[in-house]
Amino acid sequence: MHHYPDLKLFIGGAWKTADGEPVLNPADDSVLGTVPHATRADLDGALAAAQNGFKAWSRLAPAQRAETLGKAAQILRSRADDLAVVMTLEQGKPVAQARQEVMRTADMIEWEAQEGRRLYGRVIPSEPGMRHTVLRQPIGVVAAFSPWNFPTASPGRKVAAALSAGCSIILKASEETPASAFELVRAFEEAGVPAGVVNLVFGNPAEISEYLIPHPTIRVITLTGSVAVGKRLTALAGEYMKPAIMELGGHAPVIVCDDVDAVASGTLAALGKSRNAGQVCTSPTRFYVEDAVYEPFIAAMAEKAMSLKVGNGLDPDTDIGPLANARRVAAIEELVADARQKGARLLAGGERLGTKGNFYPLTVLADVPDDARAMREEPFGPLALVSRVRSIDEAIEKANSLPFGLAGYGFTNSARKANQLYEELEVGNLAINHFVPSIPETPFGGVKDSGIGREGGEEGLHGYTVVKNISHLMS
Ligand code: NAD
Repeated sequence: MHHYPDLKLFIGGAWKTADGEPVLNPADDSVLGTVPHATRADLDGALAAAQNGFKAWSRLAPAQRAETLGKAAQILRSRADDLAVVMTLEQGKPVAQARQEVMRTADMIEWEAQEGRRLYGRVIPSEPGMRHTVLRQPIGVVAAFSPWNFPTASPGRKVAAALSAGCSIILKASEETPASAFELVRAFEEAGVPAGVVNLVFGNPAEISEYLIPHPTIRVITLTGSVAVGKRLTALAGEYMKPAIMELGGHAPVIVCDDVDAVASGTLAALGKSRNAGQVCTSPTRFYVEDAVYEPFIAAMAEKAMSLKVGNGLDPDTDIGPLANARRVAAIEELVADARQKGARLLAGGERLGTKGNFYPLTVLADVPDDARAMREEPFGPLALVSRVRSIDEAIEKANSLPFGLAGYGFTNSARKANQLYEELEVGNLAINHFVPSIPETPFGGVKDSGIGREGGEEGLHGYTVVKNISHLMS
């Protein structure tokens, strides 16, 4: 039996138990524990604590904050094996991917911590006796909402960036994967982050966001989640004139040009799609493949897809774990049925596996018509949709035809075609010839419905600051 922690809220530096709801293991539907729900009084406690925490934390030297955050990263690394098991128990992903996520979170925390030491302002040349100075100051208390697909990395980056900039934070992490956030916050506590600077709550997401966002203590909102929820929270933030950082859904196009090795890229495409069972906002989803390489590409992709082992994420041989919740299985089933009914050709997968747990194999559909629902709705699951195109122009036009614009991918060895993708693809993150659209050092985020603002890179840290311009007449 693996250890699953006894979950608590973290408010003003104290752990607090509360009644709540069961947390399910997506591999066998068993109950892992209870996620505590915060009351209104708990939220008020977190707001007051975060306000006080901000006063002290924002006045520390950036190097001192960086040192504390660096310790949290070290703690996570030292516990990576155990935390990976906890993540797999509640989220389902293969334990090797869970471990990688913990290590990547530590990298992100470290990078954000050090970048806080470089939050430079500037001095603007002006007439003698006058000095114009631009300062970047921490914005204040952050309200953060994080999802279940990357239950350590997503809240980890939000907390690290906020704290590095000198802010305090109230994190409402996903109720479906609470232990990963609990362990993350425990690492910050043990690293020596003062009471009130990080607070962790769970509960009814709509009730919590509708209470926190309008509250005068909260100065910025950050969400990683669906477009629908993002629009709701952004509208609420707008009503109270607060900035919002929104990392929302995607429907990533992959443009495969006729000059590439079709078999190698088809194989890589299946692997790229299989990561976290496709439950990734940057997951490659619409494959627009040029005619000349279409058949060998889909054959290689289907062959690789069928070779991937679906099973319990704790089994080291598993390539694809269960989907994180039953909603995803239902959604994929509907999208596959609709696409097949409209003429798509099933090459791999296509049916759920077993009746216990949320197992669904990597599914490859070819010749998918543009009017299939899956070509417009984010599947957020192990579904690859392939469509034949006659030219890169046609592929780009189709790629840009959706309201999403998060990640995009291109496969080509032609500098001219790559440059056309650089220039014309409407996305926030473009990866050419691989499937890793961001690292801690680079800004990550979307255009159009995929969101506002960036995480990572210097741009990410700027979201947690306000600019103050000072003009000082000295004589
Ligand atoms: P959902 O829209 O119900 O929830 C998404 C997340 O937002 C959850 O963590 C949920 O707790 C939270 N949430 C929901 N309503 C909220 C509210 N009013 N205030 C604050 N938080 C709220 O969808 P779901 O079924 O959990 O996930 C499916 C869809 O969510 C996917 O299709 C995908 O588009 C999106 N999603 C995106 C990401 C991402 O990385 N951008 C991550 C997870 C889910």
